Amino acid sequence: MNIQQIRNATLIVQYAGKKFLIDPFLAEKGTYPPFPNSLRQDQNNPLVNLPSSIDEIIDNVDAVIVTHLHLDHYDDAAKEALPKDIKMFVQNDEDAIAVKNDGFQNVEVLQEDTAFEGIQLIKTKGEHGRGEILKLAGLVCGVVFKHHTEKTLYIAGDTVWYEGVQKAIETHHPEIIVVNAGDNQFLEGGSLVMGKDDVYEVQKVAPAAKIIASHMEAVNHWTLSRGELKSYINEKGISESVFVPED
Ligand SMILES: [Zn+2]
Repeated sequence: MNIQQIRNATLIVQYAGKKFLIDPFLAEKGTYPPFPNSLRQDQNNPLVNLPSSIDEIIDNVDAVIVTHLHLDHYDDAAKEALPKDIKMFVQNDEDAIAVKNDGFQNVEVLQEDTAFEGIQLIKTKGEHGRGEILKLAGLVCGVVFKHHTEKTLYIAGDTVWYEGVQKAIETHHPEIIVVNAGDNQFLEGGSLVMGKDDVYEVQKVAPAAKIIASHMEAVNHWTLSRGELKSYINEKGISESVFVPED
């Protein structure tokens, strides 16, 4: 397995000989207006450039997994760049209809027992915030990868820490966990994804796992920086378990 942090929640995952592209958000820096009612209204999204060319990122991708359709996970640049016959996995029928309407012909809804080229893909639940904000944020998913030649990988997606994440960890015993940890927020309503305390909760229930923090410093409403998360994991003595990669 090889996991490459691209930008925001966009990852390249090489797993059991296949190349997966997760949550493709491929626009150039500054293409979209800032998310409203949040920090940094003077900065357009994405805040930073891609670390490599789109061609390199999408070259030889076997399947794309879109955990939900928010702009910072699936954008116009991705719709344009990806070949329309590429395998696309989505969380539910509603998202499948939308992705098909964008011209993609090979769209499949992830289930708890999806198989792709011998790799088991298991859809997991997520909560994109807590309380009232959930209605606005909408449905999201995560995914567990399993294969007999690989460690189990859990990509939690845009979720806060809650019992669903705990259940996924206790059910699948992932050795590698990717969490979206920018603690993105609107001015009201609280965290939309994990913050540092959530990462600590994940580490406590999965002390043997390696945890990778993604979705950081790339869209205007982030509130947890890589630097602050790194200091926190040092303070907590968990810097051997939690990785905070640059793009
Ligand atoms: Zn997001």
